[in-house]
Amino acid sequence: MAKAKADEVRLTATTDEDVRSLRSLLTFGCKGIAAYAEHAAILGFERDDIYGFLMEALASTTKYLSTDDMVALVMKAGETAVDTMALLDEANTTTYGHPEMTEVNLGVRDNPGILISGHDLKDMEELLKQTEGTGVDVYTHGEMLPANYYPAFKKYRHLVGNYGSSWWHQNEEFDAFNGPLILTTNCLIPVRKENTYLDRLFTAGAVSYPGAKHIPNRPNGGMKDFSAAVALAKTCPAPKVIESGKIVGGFGHNQVLALADKVIAAVKSGAIKRFIVMAGCDGRHKTRSYFTEVAEKLSKDTVILTAGCAKYRYNKLPLGDIDGIPRVLDAGQCNDSYSLAVIALKLKEAFGLKDINELPISFDIAWYEQKAVAVLLALLYLGVKGMRLGPTLPGFLSPNVVKVLVDKFAITPIGTAEEDIAAMMAGR
Ligand code: SF4
Repeated sequence: MAKAKADEVRLTATTDEDVRSLRSLLTFGCKGIAAYAEHAAILGFERDDIYGFLMEALASTTKYLSTDDMVALVMKAGETAVDTMALLDEANTTTYGHPEMTEVNLGVRDNPGILISGHDLKDMEELLKQTEGTGVDVYTHGEMLPANYYPAFKKYRHLVGNYGSSWWHQNEEFDAFNGPLILTTNCLIPVRKENTYLDRLFTAGAVSYPGAKHIPNRPNGGMKDFSAAVALAKTCPAPKVIESGKIVGGFGHNQVLALADKVIAAVKSGAIKRFIVMAGCDGRHKTRSYFTEVAEKLSKDTVILTAGCAKYRYNKLPLGDIDGIPRVLDAGQCNDSYSLAVIALKLKEAFGLKDINELPISFDIAWYEQKAVAVLLALLYLGVKGMRLGPTLPGFLSPNVVKVLVDKFAITPIGTAEEDIAAMMAGR
């Protein structure tokens, strides 16, 4: 009975590939919105209209709607994604302060450590509280790197810095870390037979893994209990050195707007010719080296605005600065793409422009999973045109849906680094 119902309503129940494509675009977007809404809710920030839209969107996939109605729902998902990222931004900055320009250490100390990855800042807060004074250090990994930028976390002296890079390097980096590893959200990859860390792996929240220990949800009014990870850490050697040095980040909208006079002066003087937004997800596929190549080959009068784990493709390159403004401005996690939109809208205002597309800014987005789809829909809703998307366009987009995106929003798949740099610098 349940299977019959599932067969009747599943996305692929239709043979119309455009219907299937628009339903997939909508549901991927909704998954991203739901993930962001959950992070906001964990911090006590909720909006009924966001939940209402998610229900409306899911219910719509069980009905036959006109193409126009489905496109309208996809656009409404973009609007809801903006609202949800704004809510999460409010939740994060109200609770932990505004991200600040910060040098993040990439090296290690001699103490045992716990590595925390994923996107859940509340888990980060509670882990820092429970490890303080224990002799156990804390390191971020992957999308938790931006935790280092928040005033509420920077005050903890045992938050040493960031260890490693994006999610797909976990197998090597988690082996090398030596201590407990806590995954707070998705983007956990399978542990290989030869890896040594399964008995050091902890999961929390919505993520779990066979053989890993799951930290139960927090009791009403209480904290999650990380004591098993802390006790294990005390028996582990210190992390192995895999890199050294520092990287700079913390360029959320508040920090960039604090530098607005400097940024505007640099644009007016021609010292900054163009901003390139390279936000989104990283992935293991070879073609993603395109994003490193673009960053390396962009002229020195360009600034890269980034958010999400796509940043690891270029945030450790020696790209220098322009009049003290670093050439890679990292706003934070993928949801902090909202910050990049706020920055663009403020620049539009400061330059007295009517349309965001008149700004000297290009969008070269790396997509991988549902949150990147939510960010993409948010940018479309905000009126951004001419975005490049790579390394390939999402496979669930049918040729007709791609045509709508191209005709309406001038979305284009990435080309070669040289071609795309030339086009972006020419404002295309
Ligand atoms: S940016 Fe995307 S791929 Fe990267 S960790 Fe976040 S959700 Fe995962």
